[in-house]
Amino acid sequence: MTNLALQPAQAALTVTQDDAEDAVRTLLRWIGDDPDREGLRETPSRVARAFTEWFSGYEANPSEILSKTFGEVERYNDIVHLRGIRLESYCEHHLAPIIGTADVAYVPCGRVVGLSKLARLVDAYSKRLQVQEKLTVQIANAIDETLAPKGVAVLIRAEHHCMATRGVHKHGVDTITNQFTGVFQTDLALQKRFLSFAGV
Ligand SMILES: [Zn+2]
Repeated sequence: MTNLALQPAQAALTVTQDDAEDAVRTLLRWIGDDPDREGLRETPSRVARAFTEWFSGYEANPSEILSKTFGEVERYNDIVHLRGIRLESYCEHHLAPIIGTADVAYVPCGRVVGLSKLARLVDAYSKRLQVQEKLTVQIANAIDETLAPKGVAVLIRAEHHCMATRGVHKHGVDTITNQFTGVFQTDLALQKRFLSFAGV
């Protein structure tokens, strides 16, 4: 079973905010600018604060986010689909933004989870250094393992800024990944309904 809790922190604990700001100062010097000029003086602390926000997923606990469920749903047994959840992540190869949307769906087996919790789950995994394929699987597995539904479907479409603004410089290319478990994997008609809800 995958360990849903994060293994971040020990490393982070040994790095202070001053260390992080020094690292930013070094990068500023390395690109040829002067970290002591007026416009850049506050930049290292701003960057450190921005990193705290961009990578807040390391502090999140996915199993806890999904821990509260509800049983009074009149035996609802069809797809629950959240379409177009805004996704902001960062590629682990270049620290460049991955911007797009996630579609998250499941077929409950008795119990459902609050809809906003699924959106928070997407944030918990996307606000870390990521690879889109891994992100897709992590979201699906967390729902599968915590909620034990009949099946889960996750589809992510996103633009990778490391490909749009550097390297091959291809702007406007979406990468689509999807992951199915349970009935979404075995029932192709259900899988097709998910994909049509997702607009693929
Ligand atoms: Zn990249």
